[in-house]
Amino acid sequence: MAASTEKRNSESCDLILDRLSKCIPARADNTPLHAPTFEGNEWLYVKDCLDTGWVSSVGKYVDLFEQRLSEYTGSKYCIATCNGTAALHMALILVGVKSGDEVIIPDLTFVATANAVAYVGAVPQLADISPVTLGLDPTKLRTWLDEIAELKPGVGTINRKTGRRISAVVAMHTFGHPVELDEILSVCNQFGLPLVEDAAESIGSYYKSKHTGTFGKIGTLSFNGNKTITTGGGGAILTDDAIIAKRAKHLTTTAKKPHQWHFSHDEVAYNYRLPNINAALGCAQLEQLDAFLEKKREVAQRYIKQFHGAGDVRVLAEPPGCRSNYWLNALILSDESGASLERLLQETNGRGIQTRPVWDLMHTLPAFLGVPKMPTPIAEAAAKTVLCVPSSASLGRSL
Ligand SMILES: *Cc1c(COP(=O)(O)O)cnc(C)c1O
Repeated sequence: MAASTEKRNSESCDLILDRLSKCIPARADNTPLHAPTFEGNEWLYVKDCLDTGWVSSVGKYVDLFEQRLSEYTGSKYCIATCNGTAALHMALILVGVKSGDEVIIPDLTFVATANAVAYVGAVPQLADISPVTLGLDPTKLRTWLDEIAELKPGVGTINRKTGRRISAVVAMHTFGHPVELDEILSVCNQFGLPLVEDAAESIGSYYKSKHTGTFGKIGTLSFNGNKTITTGGGGAILTDDAIIAKRAKHLTTTAKKPHQWHFSHDEVAYNYRLPNINAALGCAQLEQLDAFLEKKREVAQRYIKQFHGAGDVRVLAEPPGCRSNYWLNALILSDESGASLERLLQETNGRGIQTRPVWDLMHTLPAFLGVPKMPTPIAEAAAKTVLCVPSSASLGRSL
């Protein structure tokens, strides 16, 4: 790198650091990327589980949590699971993905999305993202499928390059920002592909006033410790389809036939249920979700305001027509060399401000080297320019 460029980049990093530190409470000597808040009925509900002995995979909190999630998201049915990855695994089975199929997923996602595809013996087919949402780019997806896919009546959509059947599309709402669902659904319909929404990061996010995770045939949520609300570990399957919902419950409950004392199972299935003790946490967290969202929006506004007019960085904002939960705030640097990103990661983490880049792209991971993909230049650019910054609800003023 030329000396002058290097100097300019380092000056710009100092300015970014300065603006960033103004967004974070001065007293903090350690600011995590995303910490949970437990200020509601968590102790009360968990104690109730311990007092009554209902700690495991059945109990009133599981039912209550599922019911409240249904109400909150507007999804007809909700099946709680032990984590978001399990929910994704089930979703792929439930929409009919079979071993040897291909499933379209974004190159930029958390590894769970790709792993779930591998669990069912299918192969991920990687797609590029939009610079606006950082999620699947519908225009590129359509162009690519026009080029490689053929809809064969009675057979399905075949990838002409690999000969394999393409059997689903998984869209992920990156950092809580909704993808362009209307356009993605239109591509899915054109090619007869079911949409699964990996809404792990997007509880409380809306696309045109409808909750994310309720547009596809199935949506999945995660309640891992770093998500907007947490059950310790947990997830959920959302669907409006009664048959899928019934089968989801069955498959996540070791295919046990309901009976008071007989233990009989009618197929190989999974123990993916959410324990009652985790659901108890979830019920308490859900009661505070709207308050968390308000505070997270305030944190996002602080970043947006502080970086307004900064030429060499922009803050990822909610896409038009959407309301984002602002799960994780992301700065997008203009230096595409990756040098500024590396320097900022060093400086911030060194000062106790926890930051991180995006996940390593799926096509660079040993498990997924060589899987079929379209060119993914926007995902490649994101890997060198996106800096995720502290976003806990507790950073909001009104807490
Ligand atoms: C968190 C997350 C998941 C699921 O994670 P679990 O830890 O299994 O609950 C899946 N996909 C994405 C994009 C995520 O961020």
